[in-house]
Amino acid sequence: MRLVDPSTEDFIGDVPLASLAETDEAIRRAHEAFGSWRAVAPGDRARLLRRFAVLVDEHVEELAQLEVRNAGHTISNARWEARNVRDVLDYYSGAPERLVGRQIPVPGGLDFTFAEPLGVVGLIVPWNFPMPIAGWGLAPALAAGNTVVLKPAEATPLTALRLAELGLEAGLPEGVFTVLPGAGSIAGQRFVTHPLVRKICFTGSTAVGKRIMAGCADQVKRLTLELGGKNPNIIFADADLERAAATAPYAVFDNAGQDCCARSRLLVQASVYDKFLALLEPAVRGVRVGQPGLDETEMGPLISAAHRDKVASYVDDPLFQGTVPEGPGFWYPPTVLESAGRDRAWHEEVFGPVVSVRPFTDEAEAVELANDTEYGLSASVWTRDASRAVRVARAVQAGTLSVNSHSSVRYWTPFGGVKQSGLGRELGPDALAGFTEVRNVFMSVEEA
Ligand code: NAP
Ligand code: MG
Repeated sequence: MRLVDPSTEDFIGDVPLASLAETDEAIRRAHEAFGSWRAVAPGDRARLLRRFAVLVDEHVEELAQLEVRNAGHTISNARWEARNVRDVLDYYSGAPERLVGRQIPVPGGLDFTFAEPLGVVGLIVPWNFPMPIAGWGLAPALAAGNTVVLKPAEATPLTALRLAELGLEAGLPEGVFTVLPGAGSIAGQRFVTHPLVRKICFTGSTAVGKRIMAGCADQVKRLTLELGGKNPNIIFADADLERAAATAPYAVFDNAGQDCCARSRLLVQASVYDKFLALLEPAVRGVRVGQPGLDETEMGPLISAAHRDKVASYVDDPLFQGTVPEGPGFWYPPTVLESAGRDRAWHEEVFGPVVSVRPFTDEAEAVELANDTEYGLSASVWTRDASRAVRVARAVQAGTLSVNSHSSVRYWTPFGGVKQSGLGRELGPDALAGFTEVRNVFMSVEEA
């Protein structure tokens, strides 16, 4: 695969894609490694993950620079992303020694459970957040005693390949964590059909996720899906409007809008609609779009020319737009659309720096509009009324909600979607349940 720097359109390297036979071979080696990896003493597995985290920490800058070049991420985001891999490895390094089972009272004997690893886990990662999404899968999967084969997106394999090298350097045995650049239709699809892959952890589009889910049915294969979003940012009249308007652009234009959690539907209470738009406009025009390697840049380019064309196809008669640099690069400006709810941009995930604004009259209508989507990943609610904040947060159908903030991803807490945004939860204390199977043993204590 020919890789291109999205901010310059310069060729940056060629990464060969795995064939079907190479994919099978990687799965075979991961399966072979599973027996000894699950048998590594919990304290030793924990130590290896901690050492892996230390090595990632020592290479934050290198990994970040790679992502700037390969994906056009801003350097400040890319540093956060590399540190997120470190943090998630650290967090789950606590797990091997705490994967406790239960002892359950039963008549006639002793009953106890084990949280057993599944086997080979296939991670399929999209191009928008190559590092964090790799980390959210690989860290808990390895901690629980599984081995991992990871297929990065074709366009963005470089950081995953480097992470695999760091894993080996940390002392992970061969075959425990393998990165396999390849096409979705070949390597990714093979993870689904290969009987030795016992679980798929997929992040990507809802369309591909549905096909993977159907494919997994064949072998009753375990599956986690993190899919698209069309997330509302709901601003009530009593909110801190200055703060809400100052932060709204970053909630959707971060990573150039290529974020499943992007708050791309901005719902504003009608009584403050004009006032809010007046505050929003300078905030949007103020977003610093530019060379991603510069510290002060807040938004970089899109991933490719084709993706930019797709994003542009949603925009017709914008209310206002920011600016982009001249010259090469896949740039698209921060864009605000007014919506009456009948346009494609209101319903479809644009996955670019485009936000649709729409007024609502009262709480009931805000909730109704927020839920008028097949998706349900994240949502923000801005109000000073604490009771309303809780009511609306519970009424909006989303997996990850934030009040007076736009936080979605915090590695301590569960992340994932409802409705067609996905299945299962990553991160937080519960993620390990997705990488283990509860097994129950009953032992009779009757006298012979
Ligand atoms: P995509 O086309 O679904 O691709 C995601 C990954 O799946 C890529 O590695 C892709 O490989 C692979 N793939 C494609 N077809 C496949 C198949 N038939 N079998 C197995 N694997 C296959 O999505 P994308 O365009 O890269 O990413 C954007 C989407 O991801 C957006 O919709 C976004 O909302 C979603 N996303 C969701 C989350 C979340 O956590 N909920 C996070 C980030 C992104 P190739 O590179 O070869 O296409
Ligand atoms: Mg794709």
